[in-house]
Amino acid sequence: MKFSLYEMKDERLLAGGVIEKIGEELSTVTLTKENKKSTFEKRIKDHHKAVEVLEEILQSYDILRDLNDLDVVGHRVVHGGEEFTKPTLIDKNVIEKIRSLFHLAPLHNPANLEGIEAVLKKAPFLKQVAVFDTAFHQSMPKYASMYAIDRKFYKDFYIRRYGFHGTSHHYVAKESAKYLKKEFKSINLITLHIGNGASACAVQEGKSIDTSMGFTPLEGLVMGTRSGDIDAGVIFYLSRQMKMSIDEIDTLLNKKSGLKGLCGKNDLREIEKSIKEGDKDALLAFEIFCYRIKKYIGAYFAVMGRVDAVVFTAGIGENSKKVREKVCKGLQNMGIVLDKEANEKNLKEISKKESRTKILVIPTNEEIEIARQSMLCFKDNSFGFHAE
Ligand code: ADP
Repeated sequence: MKFSLYEMKDERLLAGGVIEKIGEELSTVTLTKENKKSTFEKRIKDHHKAVEVLEEILQSYDILRDLNDLDVVGHRVVHGGEEFTKPTLIDKNVIEKIRSLFHLAPLHNPANLEGIEAVLKKAPFLKQVAVFDTAFHQSMPKYASMYAIDRKFYKDFYIRRYGFHGTSHHYVAKESAKYLKKEFKSINLITLHIGNGASACAVQEGKSIDTSMGFTPLEGLVMGTRSGDIDAGVIFYLSRQMKMSIDEIDTLLNKKSGLKGLCGKNDLREIEKSIKEGDKDALLAFEIFCYRIKKYIGAYFAVMGRVDAVVFTAGIGENSKKVREKVCKGLQNMGIVLDKEANEKNLKEISKKESRTKILVIPTNEEIEIARQSMLCFKDNSFGFHAE
């Protein structure tokens, strides 16, 4: 559970941190205040307890008297289904709707709701806002969001492409528009959120019109431990010929595939080191990883016709010069030309002057985006997603 506390007048970060290993024997609590980091261990059995511990530490570090000192709490909620297309002020009805979406995100939504209910219990009158990771992609046209399977599975069971990382794609798209001094409503971008989880997004005139993750985060790019795009026929084969259970196949594709499946490591820093030492599996994993990203750039370029910038973000996108160089290699005929020197220096703009499509590196900041959207939703309940 990550947390950040902002003074929104000047967007000053008062404190931030993370509670890790919730539910294990001992959880780790890390708090950063004024650049000073404190860490301690404590047994925290669930997300409900984590919110209680959060309030205690904010009190003991003299940051808050209690949760009622806050104006609003913004929660990242992973799945908003078709129901939620924008940040939403939480009431009983919204809680029930989030609960009704548990089946779409069984690992995430229950934990998200536990956090909301824990705050509700401690501070029943405090305003809370749900910011959905799927919401930004709700502008996808049907021809991009539907799977080509019997329509009834969409109509009766809502099986369609939703996409995730929406808060991050939205944030970096807005930051890119600011940097390029263009109106958000008229900008076309390909945003690449490449961390342990990874997704690409086609942003046309400030709206997501396609994204690489689908019904679940499994689809699309190769990730740390997820396969990304795969022929569904492989699943039938694993089941029929190898007698693997559905749970085993789920674990294989979500937790034991991607970079980890290909070379045994999912941390790109280690993979880059192994490549230097001559590890052929690591090199192939790196090549497959970059090739898939490049294919999506091509696809989204074709879809939009004009692209103002390709934007790299998240752990790998922000830090790996090698991935950025490999992905952008050979795209000059499309008007995408990397400036190797700028890339080596990790500059914000890493394309050559003559590059028609700029290449940018924009650090993501989901926390400030959640805070901004929550404030807007709190101030004006009629806030629409594409109002900016
Ligand atoms: P998550 O999806 O878990 O939020 P992050 O966005 O933090 O993931 O990204 C994690 C990935 O970023 C890891 O694969 C890590 O190796 C990679 N990464 C972080 N720093 C660097 C770096 N300096 N060079 C290459 N890769 C890096």
